[in-house]
Amino acid sequence: MSENKDQKFVYDFTEGNRDLKDLLGGKGANLAEMTNLGLPVPPGFTITTEACKVYLGSGEEPAALRDEVSAHLDALEQRMGKKLGQADNPLLVSVRSGAKFSMPGMMDTVLNIGLSDASVEGLAKQAGDERFAWDSYRRLIQMFGKTVLGVDGELFEDALEAAKHAKKVTVDTDLDAADLKKLVKAFKKTVKTETGRDFPQEPREQMDLAVRAVFDSWNGDRAKLYRRQERIPGDLGTAVNICSMVFGNLGPDSGTGVAFTRDPASGHQGVYGDYLQNAQGEDVVAGIRNTVALAELERIDKKSYDQLMQIMETLETHYKDLCDIEFTIERGQLWMLQTRVGKRTAGAAFRIATQLVDQGLIDEAEALQRVTGAQLAQLMFPRFDENAKVEKIGRGIAASPGAAVGKAVFDSYTAVKWSRSGEKVILIRRETNPDDLDGMIAAEGILTSRGGKTSHAAVVARGMGKTCVCGAEELEVDTKRRRMTVNGTVVEEGDVVSIDGSTGKVYLGEVPVVPSPVVEYFEGRMHAGADDADELVAAVHRIMAYADRVRRLRVRANADNAEDALRARRFGAQGIGLCRTEHMFLGERREMVEKLILADTDEEREEALKALLPLQKKDFVELFEAMDGLPVTVRLLDPPLHEFLPDITELSVRVALAEARKDHNENDLRLLQAVHRLHEQNPMLGLRGVRLGLVIPGLFTMQVRAIAEAAAERKNAKGDPRAEIMIPLVGTVQELEIVREEAEEVIAEVEARTGVELKLALGTMIELPRAALTAGQIAEAAEFFSFGTNDLTQTVWGFSRDDVEASFFTAYLEKGIFGVSPFETIDKDGVGSLVRNAVEAGRATRPDLKLGVCGEHGGDPESVHFFHEVGLDYVSCSPFRIPVARLEAGRAAAQPSGSDSR
Ligand code: PEP
Ligand code: MG
Repeated sequence: MSENKDQKFVYDFTEGNRDLKDLLGGKGANLAEMTNLGLPVPPGFTITTEACKVYLGSGEEPAALRDEVSAHLDALEQRMGKKLGQADNPLLVSVRSGAKFSMPGMMDTVLNIGLSDASVEGLAKQAGDERFAWDSYRRLIQMFGKTVLGVDGELFEDALEAAKHAKKVTVDTDLDAADLKKLVKAFKKTVKTETGRDFPQEPREQMDLAVRAVFDSWNGDRAKLYRRQERIPGDLGTAVNICSMVFGNLGPDSGTGVAFTRDPASGHQGVYGDYLQNAQGEDVVAGIRNTVALAELERIDKKSYDQLMQIMETLETHYKDLCDIEFTIERGQLWMLQTRVGKRTAGAAFRIATQLVDQGLIDEAEALQRVTGAQLAQLMFPRFDENAKVEKIGRGIAASPGAAVGKAVFDSYTAVKWSRSGEKVILIRRETNPDDLDGMIAAEGILTSRGGKTSHAAVVARGMGKTCVCGAEELEVDTKRRRMTVNGTVVEEGDVVSIDGSTGKVYLGEVPVVPSPVVEYFEGRMHAGADDADELVAAVHRIMAYADRVRRLRVRANADNAEDALRARRFGAQGIGLCRTEHMFLGERREMVEKLILADTDEEREEALKALLPLQKKDFVELFEAMDGLPVTVRLLDPPLHEFLPDITELSVRVALAEARKDHNENDLRLLQAVHRLHEQNPMLGLRGVRLGLVIPGLFTMQVRAIAEAAAERKNAKGDPRAEIMIPLVGTVQELEIVREEAEEVIAEVEARTGVELKLALGTMIELPRAALTAGQIAEAAEFFSFGTNDLTQTVWGFSRDDVEASFFTAYLEKGIFGVSPFETIDKDGVGSLVRNAVEAGRATRPDLKLGVCGEHGGDPESVHFFHEVGLDYVSCSPFRIPVARLEAGRAAAQPSGSDSR
C-alpha cells in the first residue's frame, strides 16, 4: 500500500458517517453517525484504515499522519478547554481499535492516555477524588504495559492480587488511594524491569505508541484466527478511534452499560442490557463483576434512563434495525460510546426481519438481506427432547441457542486436544477471554459461571453460531482441579454434560435431541398458519415466501432414492439435479457388478447386465414417481470399477492363505486378477465416467434402457416422468457423441416397442477443465450442462480431495492461502472463471442450453450468489440444504447490485 499525497488520514467525528466503514471502521463510522444525529458522543477523531494499511505495508506510519493528528488533537483540546496530559487539568483520551467488521475483543484498546506522574495529581483535583485518579493511572500502566509494551499481563494481575491480599480485601474497590499509589510504583517498576525502559511520561508519545500498537494488533494471532473463522479478509486493516475519556467510575452516580434496542435472542422489543454502577466499560464486557439488568437503571438514575430509552428509539428508527450500544454515565451525564447494528441469534434475525416489515421500516427485499442461509442452517439443528428424563444441575443465561452435548473440559488446551481425537467437548470456564478462542472453536458448546449476555463468551459464541450458556452462578468452576461443583454435584473432566443455549439449562449426562421446529415445518408436520404456530416458524415461512417469489435460480436436489427425493420435494426441491446411479449398485447388488467385471465372454456380460436391468428399472420407476412432473437428471455410472470389488490387501491375504492350505478358490483367483488389472494409482483420473461407458460394452446402454423403460412405464400409468440422462466426466465432444448415438438408438427402440414418446433430454457434466474450455463444441451434443464443481475443483487445482483435506489443508488455511476450502465455497477466480466461460460458450452454441450445478457448492450460500450472477438456471444440492439454497437464491436476486452479501 503506497500513500497518496492528498490522502486524508484523520477524520473528526463530525466529518464521517455510517457509510464510511471501509475507511473509518464500524466503530468510527457509527460514532460519526451518532455525532451527526446530535447524540451525546464524547468528541474525538478517527485515524483511517488506509493509514493502518500504509503502516502494515511499510512498517512506518504515513509521513503526513503526525501533522494531521496534531491538527485534530489541537482542535479537540480547544473544544475541551484542556490539553492532553496537562498537569493541572488533563485531557485524557482512549485509543480504540475498530475494523470494518466487528471483531469483539480481538484487537487492542488503551484507556486513560495522558496520565503521568504529573497529571495524575491534576486529575485527582479535577475529579475531587484521589482514589479515582490513582486507580485510573494504575489501569493505564497495566493496559499500556500489556498491550503496547508487551509485558506479561499476569505480572500486573499478580501484583494487584498481592496488594489485595496484603490488605485482606477481595475486591479492587476496597483498595484506597495510598494502596493504589503503591501499586502504581510497583507497576512502573515491572515495566522498567521487563522492558528496560521507563513508563513513558510524555502524553503524545503514549498516544503515538498506543496507535501503533492498535495497528499491530490487526496482525495479532487472536485477530488472525478470528478473521479466518469469520471469513473477514486479512487486508482490510483497522481504524483507530481517539476519543476524549468519560468516566463511569466516579462514584455511585456514574456507571457504564451495554444495551440492545430489542432482545438479541428472541427479537422481542423491550429493555435489554446490563448496567454496572461505578465502573469503566471494559469491566462489563469482560464479565468480571456481575451487572444488574438495565431496567434497574430507571431506579438508579431516572433522568439518564429516560434519555437512554429516547436515544435507543432514535437509533432503531434511524438504522432500521436492532442496534447495540455501549454507554457511560459520568456523574449523571449520559455519553454514547458506541453503537452498531447488533449481532443476534439466528432465530431473532428471522423474527426481527419480519417485525421490521410489519412496522413499515423495511420492505421485503431488505428483509431478505437481514437473514442468511447460514442462520437458517443453524435453525435446522436438532434441539433437546422436552420429554426426555433429565438431570438438571444448574441454569445460566441463554446466550447463544442450540443443544450441545459433550465431555466436560476446563481449559482450551484440553478442548482442542480432545476434539482433535474425535471427542465432543463442552468448554467450561469461569469466564472466557480472547486466549480461549481455540478452545471455543473446538468445543460443541461453551458454559461459563460468570458474565452476562454481553460477556466475551456470549458475544463470541453468538458470532460463531455456537451454543453458549453463561453466567451460571451456581457453578463453582475449579480450573486447577479440572472439575466443577454445582449444588453439591461434582462434575469431573470427562463427565458428559448437556447445555441448552435456548433456555440456559445445564444437565448432567447426555440429553437426547429432537428435530427443530423449522425442520418440522419444512417436513410439513407443523403449519405456519396454525393458531398456535411457533413465532419463529411463522417468520421463517414468510421469509421463505419472499425468497421464492423473487429468486431466479431454481433449486434441485442431489438424491438417488425415493425417500430422499420425497423429502427434497417437501423441502421445496424443483427436481433432481443429480441421481448418482452408483449408489444403486451397492449392497446385495455389488456381486452382480462383480460378475459384470469378471465376465470373460459376451454371454457372461450380457447375463450380468440382464440381471441388473430390472433392478435399475425399478429404482427409476420409484424415483420418477416420487418426482412426478419434475425433472430428474440421472447420471450414468461414474466411479472406477475397483470400488465395486473387494479390498486388494484383504483379497491377496485370502488367496495367499488358501494357497498355503492348497485350497484353491477359482473365483477368488479371478477376482484377484481383476482387482490387480483395475487397481489405479490415482482413481480420480483413471477409468471412470464416460470412459467406462466407452470400454465396457453394454453398461451405459443397460442404464439408458432402464431409464427409458421406467419412463415409459410411468407414462403408461398416467404419470409425468421428466427424465434427463447425464454423462459424467466428459472431456471432449467425441466421447459424448458416441455415447449419445448409442443412447438414442436404445431410446428409439424402447419408444417403438412401447409406443410411448419419451422426449428424454441428453446432457453432460462439465467437471474437467478440458470440457469447460471446449464447452462451445460440447454444447453441440448436449442439451444441458451440469457443472460438477467437486471434480472441477480437484482437476483445476490438481489435487484430490481425499488426500489433501487430511494432509495439508489446515496448513493452507493457517497460512491464509485460502480463507475457506475451495471444496466448500467455489473458487471464483479459478474454477469460477472456467464456469463463467463455459456458460458463455455453451449458450453461444445453443441458446436454450439448460445450465445447472450439482457439485456440493450448489448448497453453499456464497457459491449460490456466484451461480446466480453467472446466469445458471438451477443449483442442485443435498435435500437438507435445499431451504438454504432457496433462501440464498432469493437473497441474491433481491440484493442491490454491488453490495456485500455478508
Ligand atoms: C462433481 O464432481 O461435482 C459431482 C457432482 O460429481 P461427484 O461428486 O459424484 O464426482
Ligand atoms: Mg464428479
